[in-house]
Amino acid sequence: MEAAPARPERVLRGIAAAPGVAVGPGYLLLKGLAKVPKYAVADAAAEIARLGAALEETRRQIGVLRDEVARAMGPGEAAIFDAHLLVLEDAALMDEVAAQVRRRKVNVEHVFSRVANRYIRDFGRIGDDYLRERATDIRDVTGRILDNLMGNSPRARRAGEPAVILAADLAPSDAAALPSEEVLGFATEGGNRTSHSAIMARALEVPAVVGVKGLLKAVAPGDQIVVDGDAGAVVIAPSPATLERARVAAEEHARRRAALLADGGAADNDAAGAPFALQANIGGPEDLPDALAMRASGVGLYRTENLYLRLDGWPDEAAQFAEYAAVVRAAQGSPVTFRTLDIGGDKQLGEAQVEANPFMGFRALRLCLERPEVFRPQLRAILRAAALGPVSVMFPMVSGVEELRRAKAALAAEAAALAASGEAPAALPRVGAMIEIPSASVVADAIAAECDFLSVGTNDLVQYLLAVDRGNDRVASLYDPCHPAVILTLRHVFAAAANRGIPCGVCGELAGDPGWAALLLGLGADSLSMSAPAIPEVRYVLRRTDRQGRESLAGAVLASADPAATAALIRDFAAARLRARA
Ligand code: PEP
Ligand code: MG
Repeated sequence: MEAAPARPERVLRGIAAAPGVAVGPGYLLLKGLAKVPKYAVADAAAEIARLGAALEETRRQIGVLRDEVARAMGPGEAAIFDAHLLVLEDAALMDEVAAQVRRRKVNVEHVFSRVANRYIRDFGRIGDDYLRERATDIRDVTGRILDNLMGNSPRARRAGEPAVILAADLAPSDAAALPSEEVLGFATEGGNRTSHSAIMARALEVPAVVGVKGLLKAVAPGDQIVVDGDAGAVVIAPSPATLERARVAAEEHARRRAALLADGGAADNDAAGAPFALQANIGGPEDLPDALAMRASGVGLYRTENLYLRLDGWPDEAAQFAEYAAVVRAAQGSPVTFRTLDIGGDKQLGEAQVEANPFMGFRALRLCLERPEVFRPQLRAILRAAALGPVSVMFPMVSGVEELRRAKAALAAEAAALAASGEAPAALPRVGAMIEIPSASVVADAIAAECDFLSVGTNDLVQYLLAVDRGNDRVASLYDPCHPAVILTLRHVFAAAANRGIPCGVCGELAGDPGWAALLLGLGADSLSMSAPAIPEVRYVLRRTDRQGRESLAGAVLASADPAATAALIRDFAAARLRARA
């Protein structure tokens, strides 16, 4: 590629979402994939006509490009654009889009981005090199069509090479669709630390900065990008001096990680010799090696919806069992906590219905209880996997006792049917409820009376307690887990579980913050589950605490009415223990 003319470097600030420093070429994710609006339309024919116009414009642009390249470099180099023009003639793709627009009565760019994304993924998975190449062509061309459809100017994209992913926002299904070996880091205009895309960045162990205002406008094709996930900064077109600093910072980060990883022994004990349990949050079998490498004592949260998001569809029992069995086997006897399907909210499947307020809508357990054809195969797959190793089941988004009872009854019915046909043992796995809706936290005692364990999902609990969308950068500063209401709620839930004699864990992102990890244990949590890369630092800090120290941190936090002072207490507690670090 031609060297871009030197541009002055620009630094944009955002929210530090995943630690580390990445340097690489910026790759604009199909801008539309995340930013495409979705709305109902009355006139499907007008939508389809818009697609026709966008195709026409795309054809014209590619023709111009082909002629330019042929003039400058010869017909051989220009042949790639003939392949691109062929994508435009792909009747199956365009017909499917038109049919879906007619049937679903939603805007064409929404449908187009979904269908195109599925094509890209399907081609990308094919073993044959030629067909895999087609995925790159389709990605290029569909991105161009989408840009034209949305009135955006065409932008340079280079698929297939490691890059920093830039996007308006990143839906979990978009993040799941990215080939992880191509992702050096993320920077997005929207989002917050607990958006699922930020969670995925931490799981992939790549630096991420979210909530970067004006990012896409500031980036030009060919720009190098530095993502500083520690400082929450994005540098566009970095100077040689900045690049050198970034390289040194990345090395330093790697060195610190190695030192943290080497800390600790076979068992996790605190400074007084008392054991503590650190588990991993995973999204599928591919996350197990990391969890084992970080010496997680099991899986505290298996986000089973990731398989659905990857497929952008509803896997059958066999597909689920294959994946679950792989996880249970790879866990080598450590317990695996399956969370049943938590689709909805920001985790939408392609065919999901349009909802005005999806976080409050048809999500998770609500959907499963109403759609036994979705719930039953998953429960059966989990129960069959339970024959292969220690397994627990937990239900997401439980709002009260009644829902928990219905979910347990569905599980028991499948267990009885499987036992009768000899496909699974009669014993039920341990059953737990996630506490992530305020109503559930209020009646935690009654819920605890009906299950074997509780697990607090702080990501959602904070958003619902404070009425602050966890993924909305505009209200990111209001998403404050140090709010006294959050602290009091946590203490209440831990006490309810203890009174009923059952354990209560935490599997939200707070568990992976070293200061918060100490606080949560001090407030009464029994175990912590986090994305695997967070484990070493949490372990390092907890090994340098004892019960008395954690409880006195909890006491100080409970006595503080000021969220800023609370945040400082938690931060300082961890910093004092991390200072000893290499
Ligand atoms: C949570 O809400 O804290 C949680 C662990 O679930 P998720 O982030 O998948 O919604
Ligand atoms: Mg949740």
